[in-house]
Amino acid sequence: MTENNSINFQREPLLTETEIKVRMAEMVLEIARDLQHEELTVIGILRGSFMFMADLVRLLYVNDIHPLIDFVFVTSYEGTESTGHLNLLRDMSLDVKDRKVLIVDDILDTGRTLKFTKEYIIEREAMEVSTCVLLDKPSRRTVPINADYVGFSINDVFVVGYGLDYNGRYRDLPYLGVIDCVEVE
Ligand code: 5GP
Ligand code: MG
Repeated sequence: MTENNSINFQREPLLTETEIKVRMAEMVLEIARDLQHEELTVIGILRGSFMFMADLVRLLYVNDIHPLIDFVFVTSYEGTESTGHLNLLRDMSLDVKDRKVLIVDDILDTGRTLKFTKEYIIEREAMEVSTCVLLDKPSRRTVPINADYVGFSINDVFVVGYGLDYNGRYRDLPYLGVIDCVEVE
């Protein structure tokens, strides 16, 4: 048996552009409702969150919310598996001390990335930290964390598109698709 894996990109989207848009409009209403005229700092976790975050802040704008925006670059994945080792590859530029922060990530899987990032931002003395993810895979959780705002709860499948990659590819897809990994003998 060789170590080769072949991948199969499922033709049917898991979530279409329209489904993502409709759900995001609802999520932004929830976020807007919970904000009591405080000024928000939105921190995206690169790289997977870039497309979700761009659409999210445009919807916040429509709701008259004009946050400060920054990113951290946290990584743990290689291929379809988490390496378990988290790295802060790039720090924020903004000072979050005494600020209300919304952390944005593409997907909540084992929970390690969001927990690591949330703890990091709390250490930086943010006044309040909430979390928002487009996708949640609750069955994969290994550390106890949930997001305050969740777009869609999904089964344990490997998703790509709308910012999410497989080995650097598929981030540009405007919808979410599923990849099956097939072991080749
Ligand atoms: P966690 O630390 O919760 O295990 O993983 C979170 C990160 O793993 C996400 O920000 C994302 O980058 C990556 N990840 C988890 N599940 C998937 C998936 O199904 N597809 C892709 N492309 N990335 C995933
Ligand atoms: Mg990510």
